[in-house]
Amino acid sequence: MTMNQQILLDNRPAGEATAANFKLVQTPIAELQEGQVLVRHHFLSLDPYMRGRMNESKSYADPQPLGEVMIGGTVGEVLESRHPKFKAGDAVVGMGGWQTHSVVDANVFGALRKVDTTHVPLSHYLGAVGMPGVTAWYGLVKIINPKAGETVTVSAASGAVGSAYGALAKARGCRVVGIAGGKDKCDYVVNELGFDACIDYKAGPGAVRAGLKEHCPKGVDIYFDNVGGEILDDVLARINRKARIIICGAISQYNNTTPVQGPKNYLSLLVNRARMEGMVVFDYAQRYPQAVAELSAYLKEGRMHSREDVVQGLEQFPAALLKLFNGENFGKLVLEVAKG
Ligand code: NDP
Repeated sequence: MTMNQQILLDNRPAGEATAANFKLVQTPIAELQEGQVLVRHHFLSLDPYMRGRMNESKSYADPQPLGEVMIGGTVGEVLESRHPKFKAGDAVVGMGGWQTHSVVDANVFGALRKVDTTHVPLSHYLGAVGMPGVTAWYGLVKIINPKAGETVTVSAASGAVGSAYGALAKARGCRVVGIAGGKDKCDYVVNELGFDACIDYKAGPGAVRAGLKEHCPKGVDIYFDNVGGEILDDVLARINRKARIIICGAISQYNNTTPVQGPKNYLSLLVNRARMEGMVVFDYAQRYPQAVAELSAYLKEGRMHSREDVVQGLEQFPAALLKLFNGENFGKLVLEVAKG
């Protein structure tokens, strides 16, 4: 009998999540019922939102229940199917969670999707052409719809969402300025991703303000915020009249043990008649095919690049997740659990 290795949330973290918050268990895989599909996971996605789900408090989604497999995006292959639309060997993407296998009710909308790996590697369906890529696509194409020549600033620019956002904005003729931590990441953002400039927020006090002044000489029209905190305040000080700011994430705040502090410079919105708007990608599930089609075409044409940071082994999951919060990941962070 095939055994499933699973990581359960055992207790809720205070501050950073550690291995002590999780439990690794082995369970037998039950026989499939009509409509179910057995998937062997090749890659699991590690994403910043997972930290929020570990909290007791409700956010835009319910908390992760204790004692259950941690939620998470997965890609893999169908091993066995009792659903007419899936067969053994199909490459699929789903929300299988932190485990080596999942049994999926394929009749549930969006639970399992077949993907084409002819031109796009399977793992990219967790990154550039997966949830992070779609987040960037929706945040740029549908919410902002920028004009050529506008200045777009993006934080966590070397990461899964930020890199895709920059590529999409460049393709629409914008001036794109990234913000990232460290020289290596900034060099990558400019030289490999093709941004116009990148500001190293770790370069010292005042680095972001000075960088924005230098690289956004006409001010900031659009800011796609992935980090919150002081960087958001620095950008607010540099926005133009009618600027648009998308609050996509606030990773600098996710491990806080005290309440999140809002921006100090918010009156800049009033002065500049600007707007700030939050977004959650899960609201746009119906748009996935359109977004994935554009993102896949960009990857194929080399107009978008997707760097991955691959960690091996399910047991590494809790430790690997921390890389997102100390900036150790360089590119979309995924965990390889089985070779294809
Ligand atoms: P990334 O691949 O960008 O990895 C996270 C990065 O955040 C790190 O590499 C690090 O980059 C940066 N970071 C970590 N801590 C800090 C800090 N204190 N200050 C500044 N930067 C920090 O992750 P994703 O692309 O997956 O996610 C990016 C953001 O998008 C997150 O906030 C996430 O929650 C959000 N998101 C929101 C969605 C939505 O629907 N609203 C959907 C998907 C993601 P560096 O080394 O440059 O500091």
